[in-house]
Amino acid sequence: MTSNAPYPPALDAGLETERLSQTIKDWSIANGLAVRPPPVLVGQNQDPEGILAINAPVTLFPSPFPKSCFEEAKAIQTNYNELYARISQDEEFLGRLVQEVAGGDDFIAKLWEIHLKVKEEGYVQNLSLGLFRSDYMVHQDGDHLQIKQVEFNTIASSFGGLSAQTSLLHQHLSKTEYPLLTTPIPPNTLNLPPNTSAHSLAAGLRAAYEAYGPSILNHPTCILFIVQDGERNIFDQRHLEYSLQQSSIPVFRLPFSQLLTHTTLSPTPLRQLLYHLPHNPSQIFEVAVTYLRAGYGPNDYPAPSSWLARRRIETSNTIPCPTILTQLAGMKKVQQVLATPPGPSTLAKFIPDEEKSSALWRTFTNIYPLDSSSPAGREARRLATDPKECLKYVMKPQREGGGNNFYKGAIPEQLKKVPEEHWNSFILMELITPPAVQNTILRQGKLEQGGVICELGVYGTCLWDQKTGQVKHNEEAGYLLRTKGDQSEEGGVAAGFGCMDSVALV
Ligand code: ADP
Ligand code: MG
Repeated sequence: MTSNAPYPPALDAGLETERLSQTIKDWSIANGLAVRPPPVLVGQNQDPEGILAINAPVTLFPSPFPKSCFEEAKAIQTNYNELYARISQDEEFLGRLVQEVAGGDDFIAKLWEIHLKVKEEGYVQNLSLGLFRSDYMVHQDGDHLQIKQVEFNTIASSFGGLSAQTSLLHQHLSKTEYPLLTTPIPPNTLNLPPNTSAHSLAAGLRAAYEAYGPSILNHPTCILFIVQDGERNIFDQRHLEYSLQQSSIPVFRLPFSQLLTHTTLSPTPLRQLLYHLPHNPSQIFEVAVTYLRAGYGPNDYPAPSSWLARRRIETSNTIPCPTILTQLAGMKKVQQVLATPPGPSTLAKFIPDEEKSSALWRTFTNIYPLDSSSPAGREARRLATDPKECLKYVMKPQREGGGNNFYKGAIPEQLKKVPEEHWNSFILMELITPPAVQNTILRQGKLEQGGVICELGVYGTCLWDQKTGQVKHNEEAGYLLRTKGDQSEEGGVAAGFGCMDSVALV
């Protein structure tokens, strides 16, 4: 990239764009940068054999991203892992926050109830695994660029599989296609950092698998992926599975809805979780690690039996990724309590090292509770209900998976529908306004060109002992760049708003 050439370069709308799009379409299918098609695209029941895949939406070019911000986000990930491992161990702290939101949030109340039941039976597994992702946007303050955290994910942190492939796609294009454009980008001029997300997340699962050790019941051990029925983002998960299978670890996928049918608890003091192969139930694997890619929202619990399934995982000797406590540590309420002005006192309780905690504190933006008793809560109620002030905020419930938030003018409208005593189940967060960059998105074969907003996610893996607090594995695990049109408020790729991207560091 020469310093004064516009980036990404303008494309000739005809053959040049066609050629680049075609290369991306083919490379993506050839390399598993793909999702299952939505029914609206192929028609209901038009793919009964489940053989179709389509390109994941992706940018034609890696988006420019400030190098200092990227490096900062990567460098603090192990501190974030440690912070959330410590929060997961503080049952009293989590219980207090659960009580604050539970009145207006049955789902969180139910998760806590399951935790208490298992506690009464006695937890038999002290090891806990987190596959985390901390999400950021770049905040521009004059000339100063600073990453600000959007949210911290502690359950089903997705896209690590597709993200590694997206980096490879853009690296491939930078060698083969970008140098041939009418405004060429010479090879090796883009700064494209490697992205190990698929293998690094798999390495986290492997660390837990190894820590579990051999079965004392003499079964072979395995890792069980708990998934949603009809998952369209399956190849993302498959990349992690294949990486584990390369190191000869047995991996199985089981829909959450079938967990009670195909697993049992061994009637021994350790309550090992046993997986019976559906096609050959006498063949049994002991589940060393249970990786949840389902169970993060109320839709995954349509019947009381769904809660029994969650309880079976939690009460067994498997290492869950995550435990209910770790899932609850990912509540937006936790992020709010850590970030509420004026200062990092709650954060310092978990991370006493001042250098580490101030590095984390710098990534927070203002987040407020919406209670009626604290000064911060009362101020937030004023901001959220004022027709002008509310335009600077997003209001979030305790939910994951996209499509749940209320933006700007929708905030006062939503609050009118909720009884005031339940306002505290939401948090109010300042909107981060990243500098817009230009890019083109290829989505379902169509090009969308214009201003885009980028959200960086950094993965982390952490294995710790809930009882002793000992951290056995703590690593930064690659990154995700998701990009959306600058007119869109939500950015989830699975929710259909965002697309896959990678960084060109500037
Ligand atoms: P979810 O758990 O549903 O993913 P998020 O907190 O990540 O919820 O919010 C969803 C999307 O909304 C984000 O990916 C981002 O695009 C946008 N968003 C959330 N918080 C902010 C914020 N403070 N400023 C700007 N955009 C935000
Ligand atoms: Mg999110």
